[in-house]
Amino acid sequence: MSVSEILFAVAGALLGLAFQGGMFLFLIPFAVVAFSLAFMNRPTLPNGTTVLPVIKHDKRSTALTPVVSPDLRNEFVNTKTETNEPNSSLRVNQIWGRANADVDKAFGDMLRCLKVLLPQANTLTIFTNGGRSNELSLRTFQSDIPNCIDASAKITENMGILSQLLRPEVSRILEGDLLVGKRLTYYIENRKIRSLMGVPLFDRNERRLGVLLVDSLHPNAFTAAEAQALTYIARAMYTVSFKCFISAQNYIEQQQFSTLYHYQRKFFQTMSVKDIYKQMFEYVKENMPFDRLTILVLDDPQKGLGHVIYSVGMDSDQFVDKKFTLNDKGIFVLALIRNRPVVRSFTGYTDYVPRLTDSEKRNMELRQLFVMPVASEPDAKVAELAICLESRFDNRYQEHEKTLLKAFAGVAGFAYARACQFEKGKDMAAKDPLTRLMNRGALQESMRTEKIRANRQKTNIGVLMMDIDHFKSVNDTYGHPVGDEVIKGIANAISGEIRKEIDIVGRYGGEEFVVGLVDTTPEGMIETAERIRKAVGKLEFNVLKPEPLRVTVSIGAFLVEPDFTDMKKAVNNADQALYKAKEGGRNQVVRFETVETEAVGD
Ligand code: GH3
Ligand code: MG
Ligand code: MG
Repeated sequence: MSVSEILFAVAGALLGLAFQGGMFLFLIPFAVVAFSLAFMNRPTLPNGTTVLPVIKHDKRSTALTPVVSPDLRNEFVNTKTETNEPNSSLRVNQIWGRANADVDKAFGDMLRCLKVLLPQANTLTIFTNGGRSNELSLRTFQSDIPNCIDASAKITENMGILSQLLRPEVSRILEGDLLVGKRLTYYIENRKIRSLMGVPLFDRNERRLGVLLVDSLHPNAFTAAEAQALTYIARAMYTVSFKCFISAQNYIEQQQFSTLYHYQRKFFQTMSVKDIYKQMFEYVKENMPFDRLTILVLDDPQKGLGHVIYSVGMDSDQFVDKKFTLNDKGIFVLALIRNRPVVRSFTGYTDYVPRLTDSEKRNMELRQLFVMPVASEPDAKVAELAICLESRFDNRYQEHEKTLLKAFAGVAGFAYARACQFEKGKDMAAKDPLTRLMNRGALQESMRTEKIRANRQKTNIGVLMMDIDHFKSVNDTYGHPVGDEVIKGIANAISGEIRKEIDIVGRYGGEEFVVGLVDTTPEGMIETAERIRKAVGKLEFNVLKPEPLRVTVSIGAFLVEPDFTDMKKAVNNADQALYKAKEGGRNQVVRFETVETEAVGD
């Protein structure tokens, strides 16, 4: 309330009492005095009109307004908050940053110009949307005394005169008689502002993106005509910024689609599932905004088991390598099960929505999530992968991000399916179907690889060649299927006696096996061979006879020392030793060296 308003109110009250008559009649002269004081103090502008908030009745027609892409939400959003996404190496942010800087420069120039045209003005400010609705943050200002401005000032609801500009019905404010001592929020100290004029910055769809404010230490400093001029300037400001942002937007889209094309090519240059994971992660990191990024894979669709491949950003440690099942009720998993994108914004005081499990750390700062499933077939019931993006802004993911990531997910899904198929095929080509051991080709390849490693580390490789004794008679007596069972049983027995993931074993021929013992000693090699021989001897095969079938193997061994390079010859040597073992009566281990010594002795 201004002074005049108080005086008017007092005069009214006195007059009211006076009309009661009787002893109150003496109040009439006081009421008259109050009225005259009020009249003299009424807020007037130099041209005599008094203006308080102008209520906008005529809503401007928007029929001819071009549709603004929703991505232009970024207009006016402060650079500081928008690019503060330390985990995504987003190039987009740099482009927006440049556009924001251009806009800041244009705004600054316009304020400097206004300052010259309105010498009575003390401070000119522009507040813009900081990402939250109904909250404006100081973006730029021009002031006679710049040190007195609070750069982090905000305008929110219930902030007196300034918050009127947030209200839809207010199209401008013009105050010529602010109470002496009025303190405006953007001043660090009280500057005793007397006049204030302000207009909202509208976009083409009449959304309030910010406000333009001019204040003065003098009463009645601004005219209605000046306030009207401010409206035009605000519109021009919007147009300039719109052009800056639309050109940035175009540039970004062009960049994003060429990046998509680049990744499409990269995807098809690899056949490895692991590479596909890595490329997905890199693409999202560079092209999508996020404060947390999590990528999940469903490893076993039949059993519904999966795990987290990547998780970076806020509170992400808890998710790294985490296993999940399709029964888990988290929202990430939900997108996988339904093979449909999920976008959720958490505005206001919504409850926490679990991402993977109930027990995870609840981060309430992440206010929007966007989960894009990646499926090997577009209309698969369940997706194999999910890209989960989360942001601190509740409107970070809009149509443009959805379109872009969907296009990427389509390409990624196809590439993933291709790589899976290839790895499965490679696996099938390398393995013997009966025993699931490596076949001869894969075994030789593996031997070569191990030899290279052994050379580097100056270690030995023990080569064992083994053959089932009198196997022909097993086949002849019990039939081929029983023979196959025996081969399988022996394969398992051998695998059980060597170091998993270190030593190698393969089916070399029909009933012949080769073992490569990595980093072994002569004694170690013979010990292992003996262990295998004994383990095979203990096997019992049920052949519907009172006595189970028992078999034995003969084993030839050769130690490949670092200076022995020919792995083919190594296998041959082991084979020669095997021949000696057969000759020596079978069910025994013979080392190649011994063969030579004996040969020399003969
Ligand atoms: P030795 O002790 O000298 O090795 O006698 P053997 O009877 O085992 O002789 P050999 O090693 O030459 O036997 C090879 C036999 O193994 C011939 C073939 O019938 C059988 N065989 C080879 N591959 C398979 C297979 O995949 N399944 C079955 N059931 N038998 C096979
Ligand atoms: Mg044989
Ligand atoms: Mg044999």
